[in-house]
Amino acid sequence: MPHIVVLGAGVIGLSSALWIQAEGHAVTIVARDFPNGSETVDAASQINYTSPWGGAHNRLVPPTTAPEEREHAMSLRTFDHMRAVHKRYPEAGITFMKGIEYLEAPSEAYRALTVEKATKQLKMQGFRLLRNEELPKGVTWGCEYDTWCVNPMVYCSFLLRRFAILGGKVLKREVRDPREIFNWKFEAGPVDTLINASGNGFGDENMFITRGQTCLVANPCPATITRQNADGSWTFSVPRNFDGGTIIGGTKEPNNWDPNPSPQVRETLLRNFAATYPQILGAEGKFTVMKDIVGRRPTRKGGMRLKTESVEGNKCIIHAYGLGGRGYELSWGVADQVAGLLTEHIPPRSSKL
Ligand SMILES: Cc1cc2nc3c(=O)[nH]c(=O)nc-3n(C[C@H](O)[C@H](O)[C@H](O)COP(=O)(O)OP(=O)(O)OC[C@H]3O[C@@H](n4cnc5c(N)ncnc54)[C@H](O)[C@@H]3O)c2cc1C
Repeated sequence: MPHIVVLGAGVIGLSSALWIQAEGHAVTIVARDFPNGSETVDAASQINYTSPWGGAHNRLVPPTTAPEEREHAMSLRTFDHMRAVHKRYPEAGITFMKGIEYLEAPSEAYRALTVEKATKQLKMQGFRLLRNEELPKGVTWGCEYDTWCVNPMVYCSFLLRRFAILGGKVLKREVRDPREIFNWKFEAGPVDTLINASGNGFGDENMFITRGQTCLVANPCPATITRQNADGSWTFSVPRNFDGGTIIGGTKEPNNWDPNPSPQVRETLLRNFAATYPQILGAEGKFTVMKDIVGRRPTRKGGMRLKTESVEGNKCIIHAYGLGGRGYELSWGVADQVAGLLTEHIPPRSSKL
């Protein structure tokens, strides 16, 4: 049986590992970091492992270019697979709910959205334009649609457990270069195909980080709500459920390496969200803050790298990294494409998907 190594145990590595495992391959995940309960994690020590710090919700991003169209297709693939996983495994950490978008200064792509276009062309389910009286002060355009959120710790741990119970192997190691893995000895046999799901790649000069500061509060929120302000700033909520509280975000700061949350930013995020959606404050009229979070979105100029590279004769690396702020939203779409690239190298043995 062909033995494939997936380098990385973030949402991209875990989804890809499960997908190719279902096609009948023996798979080992090699990674420095693995999912575990957020309550026990020293956040600063795992700041370069992005998946625990993602929101993570799925949002409508109306596509206007060919790469955006491709991402939209991947988000739909992910949506369908999330539905199937949620139905079969209610404990997986996935919740389906309404996604609400508020925009102060919508671009043409948003303004052109009609129910017909959103439903038929973009395949968004439950889409509805909001009426003026439903919009918060300062917002000029809004919509809602059916979407999903995950509690990242619950969800990623679930993916890892599924992988292990289906026979997948894991190895906690840090590597300097993915190519070193081709020389390792594994119980499952030698490796000639490696999936590089390391988030940031290795020395890719197009990679940079986009810092995000969020605040985790205990207040429940019934929908994922995103507000894009006219000055380019954002405010959003991502309910995590499964006792995970609600994430209030967020900042998007390219090349900002500061690992420390700013108390002023926390105050601004909470104030802005409460102004947009005062119901979040509940009967007590206040937020119950659990913790501040700083994460680093693995962003790539020109978009994600999803490509096969031949190395040393007939060995190959399939790169799947640089997902920026959309790793969860596109995860199963990426996994499907990784499996497609793998098929060009090694045909699938079966399909249990
Ligand atoms: C504040 C914030 C909010 C976000 N909100 C959302 C959202 O709402 N929706 C959404 O879709 N996305 C969101 N994201 C983005 C999302 O979290 C990322 O796109 C996603 O987690 C990237 O996953 P990944 O698997 O590519 O990388 P990672 O999660 O970083 O995983 C990388 C893996 O590779 C391993 N690795 C790396 N280098 C080495 C090495 N040298 N040796 C061994 N192992 C190595 C790591 O240990 C880890 O296991 C958000 C991110 C942030 C920071």
